[in-house]
Amino acid sequence: MDYQKILEDIYEEIQPFAKDGKQADYIPALAKVNPDQFGMCLETVSGEVYAHMQADTRFSIQSITKVFALAMCLSMKGETLWKRVGKEPSGTAFNSLVQLEVEKGIPRNPFINAGAIVLADLLISELEDPEAEFLRFVRALCGSETVDYNMEVALSEREKGYLNAAIANMLKYHGTIENDIEQVLMFYFKMCSVEMSCRELAKAFLAFTNHAPFEYAGYKLSKSRIKRLNAVMQTCGFYDEAGEFSYLVGLPGKSGVGGGIIAVYPHRYSVAVWSPRLNSKGNSVLGMKALELLTTYTEESIF
Ligand code: GLN
Repeated sequence: MDYQKILEDIYEEIQPFAKDGKQADYIPALAKVNPDQFGMCLETVSGEVYAHMQADTRFSIQSITKVFALAMCLSMKGETLWKRVGKEPSGTAFNSLVQLEVEKGIPRNPFINAGAIVLADLLISELEDPEAEFLRFVRALCGSETVDYNMEVALSEREKGYLNAAIANMLKYHGTIENDIEQVLMFYFKMCSVEMSCRELAKAFLAFTNHAPFEYAGYKLSKSRIKRLNAVMQTCGFYDEAGEFSYLVGLPGKSGVGGGIIAVYPHRYSVAVWSPRLNSKGNSVLGMKALELLTTYTEESIF
């Protein structure tokens, strides 16, 4: 398969949509990003890397970080994790409060904000130095020691993070989080602020293709757990657009409001794409289109 040519063709094909959507501006630091950027990188399990355009530009991974947090929590807690957070698609926006109230403080899944705030709380409870430990894990996955938090983005989100603060308060009221609300929120915002490039994300997510034993920075996951983690990405990775992504692309994946999307083709490859302009659901317009074309042109998907 000539993936390099396919990535180049995809880029040409999506140009008519290049001005659709706009970048996230509810986090002031993200509003400053040039929206007209695009990068893509695919890495196969045999180590071939195909990159196009700004595949080496780092961007705010935002909700993609939730997959890393889930992997750590699953490694430490196993199935008992699911007492604190569900694994059903939410069908609601990533920052919705409605379900959380009705369902008495148990978030539908770990990939909506409420669910990931619970993961942040769990990591704080379990680890001596959760911030350093989280970075150590992500760095081991992507093989880059310079991947880091962006404090300007994290603090900017904290300043305007009214909805996430409301979510954390509701979780605390229902007893779903144990630690101090401010500490949990700040750690959640820091995890979201991590910056990585498409090349680094593709490398990191290769670990989730289940082609080799999973052990990074001391965190282990069995093949069965990786299968389950991919299942949660498939059903919950795109909030109220999870069905649409599954329908168009046919791979498990995860998006973030920084404009990044990763997708995993188990036992074959991982792919990362980034473009900051988002649709109304908070998913990258060009990113969705590029991945739809990738599985269409290659005629490869899990289905
Ligand atoms: N940090 C973002 C938030 O909490 C993450 C959301 C996302 O990427 N969908 O709103």
